[in-house]
Amino acid sequence: MLRIGLTGGIGSGKSTVSARLAELGAVVVDADKIAREVVEPGEPALEQIRERFGERVFGPDGALDRPALGRVVFGDPASLAALEGITHPAIWRRTAKYFAQAEEAGTPIGVHDMPLLVEKAMAGEYHLVLVVDTDEEVRLQRLVELRGMPPEEARSRIAAQATDEQRRAAADVLLDNNGTPEELVAQVDRLWQERLTPFADNLAAGRRRER
Ligand code: ATP
Repeated sequence: MLRIGLTGGIGSGKSTVSARLAELGAVVVDADKIAREVVEPGEPALEQIRERFGERVFGPDGALDRPALGRVVFGDPASLAALEGITHPAIWRRTAKYFAQAEEAGTPIGVHDMPLLVEKAMAGEYHLVLVVDTDEEVRLQRLVELRGMPPEEARSRIAAQATDEQRRAAADVLLDNNGTPEELVAQVDRLWQERLTPFADNLAAGRRRER
């Protein structure tokens, strides 16, 4: 299976790309979704969070109160490291499981939708890294106008991530999303036909030769 890492700054348009790749036949593993899954009720990581941080990070309904947890770890490196020590192994295990399931099902292309791919230095985990490249001012405007994010929050979230230059340096393929969504989808379709499908076919042929 061809393993693809998909990333881009906040508001860059990753959702459009991952949705199109899924329509074309890829299995998309969504890092944000997995991060939420591992702290759902009944998950071992949730109980470890309770042991470490106590009831103050849980709401009256018994579910994790993410904003409260965020306030506890914000600006406290030791607490943040403790939290990540609990969640990260659970997240990696589940990510590996989803990729293994896709591979077993014979999926030719698996995509990891991973906002922090560059920040976590993960480029080496994939055959190809796709970066959705959208100018900061355009992202800011879309986050504010289309997603209703307060401008200050949008600015500080952008500033907390890697820079566009750092993401470009990690990219094997850049997808430009300063234009229309249709133009972005057309780039994905071309990439699928011209590079991804042949790459996946070569990988599969190589596997068959090894057997
Ligand atoms: P996040 O990092 O938060 O997951 P994302 O990369 O998934 O962000 P999207 O949510 O896909 O970004 O895009 C941000 C916003 O911009 C959304 O409201 C989306 O509908 C809109 N958008 C994406 N591409 C375009 C485009 N080419 N033209 C206009 N609006 C767009």
